[in-house]
Amino acid sequence: MNTRQFYIDGAWVDPINGTNLDVINPSTEEVCATISLGGTADTNAAVEAAKRAFVSWSATSKAKRLELMNSILTSYKARASEMGDIISQEMGAPISMAQTAQSGTGSFHIEAFIKALGEFEFDRELRPNTPQDRIIYEPIGVCGLITPWNWPMNQIALKVMPAIATGCTMILKPSELSPLSGILFTEILHDAGVPAGVFNLVNGDGAGVGTTLSGHPDVAMISFTGSSRAGIAISKNAADTLKRVSLELGGKGANIIFADAPEKAVAQGVARCFNNTGQSCNAPTRMLVERSRYDEAVEQAKAAAETTAVDLASKEGKHIGPLVSEAQYEKVQGLIEKGINTDKARLIAGGLGKPEGIDKGFFAQPTVFADCTNDMIVMREEIFGPVLSMMPFDTEEEAIAIANDTEYGLTNYVQTADGAKANRVARQLRSGMVDMNGIGRSAGSPFGGYKQSGNGREGGEWGLEEFMEVKAVGGWFEGMS
Ligand code: NAD
Repeated sequence: MNTRQFYIDGAWVDPINGTNLDVINPSTEEVCATISLGGTADTNAAVEAAKRAFVSWSATSKAKRLELMNSILTSYKARASEMGDIISQEMGAPISMAQTAQSGTGSFHIEAFIKALGEFEFDRELRPNTPQDRIIYEPIGVCGLITPWNWPMNQIALKVMPAIATGCTMILKPSELSPLSGILFTEILHDAGVPAGVFNLVNGDGAGVGTTLSGHPDVAMISFTGSSRAGIAISKNAADTLKRVSLELGGKGANIIFADAPEKAVAQGVARCFNNTGQSCNAPTRMLVERSRYDEAVEQAKAAAETTAVDLASKEGKHIGPLVSEAQYEKVQGLIEKGINTDKARLIAGGLGKPEGIDKGFFAQPTVFADCTNDMIVMREEIFGPVLSMMPFDTEEEAIAIANDTEYGLTNYVQTADGAKANRVARQLRSGMVDMNGIGRSAGSPFGGYKQSGNGREGGEWGLEEFMEVKAVGGWFEGMS
């Protein structure tokens, strides 16, 4: 693997002013690779290449772009297992889950964007029977794509594929904590025949490559997924060049469990919260339970947490793995400590320190706090670890008010057998997504949040529109090309 090089203008090149960074396997704390972090000259070279390639790539037909995307899908499927291995090593997802859920997001999104592109009309009448009014969608230009480490392939595919589909050119900067999946994906794109300069990869950190991209006058758009902190920094730095900034940020999802919810709703909610070691922006981290079922739910959540196994990412099985890094481990420990000592929430499972019998790796204990109130730190802050906070409620209105009383608004969850109530609650939740009774959204649905969870929508036609300008033409000559 070309871990020390960048991919610019269709070729692997040495850094111009790079520095070294070790990639740490979070299960073993050992170095699994060394990458180069790019400097300003590397980033500028990639932007130059993308700018040159935009002239021809933006003029390609939908059929040509579909052909390339199908070739990428074939190339991806051939290396999907390798992708699972690499993701597991770099960010600690247990191998069984990395091989399925993590790696699988790549082909899932490639396929979904092939479908979305096939259906998208780039050139059409404003409305039926308005022949003089033409609406034309055009690629926005050179895009900077900045991605996080928690679902690395998911985020890369959600940005690279619509950028390619719409005729944009791009520079990808994956998270410096999980750069290896980005390097493998670059090999996949190269093998699939992506034309030189359309896709470029420069590894780096936020202060370096990330900041150069967000302030670059030749970058028309930044598509960013990560923390609200970095989203704000990027927006400010991008303001001077008035570029488009599409943001997918954090979350603090509520899981509203009504008394008539299925028996397994609590255990499923705990598993969903702890999935990927709690490192998902859409994790249901606040469990709100109707009071008549609350005591029983606390016992069920305690049992579910205590039977959640924690083990090495390299082992097969359904356990959860380590947190991504030492810094993330310290952050999660700090918030558990605040839950115990500042919030004085009732700790019913887990707590501070590593799980019993584990002394190496960034492993945290599956932790549950009960009897929380919505002003507590553990109910307000995105912890990004295997930590669940529980709170009782009495009425539907109260549950909705608690769920909406957060600076975030990404995904909320509703569990009830009453269809009318479920739909009523879904309408009132201030979030970009609502999942009900364990049924997720279909491929092609928009993914994104309200409030501090961001302003972007990824996936489907919405994910394509993010990367385009829309042109309205009056006085169009009907029947002429
Ligand atoms: P992070 O913000 O620290 O880093 C994300 C990316 O941004 C990395 O590539 C990093 O190098 C870069 N970056 C950091 N500071 C930057 C700056 N000032 N300018 C430009 N780039 C910068 O986040 P993280 O710790 O990697 O990821 C975890 C966060 O991502 C969580 O808050 C999580 O909720 C969020 N997330 C959101 C979604 C979503 O779709 N809403 C999906 C996954 C993760």
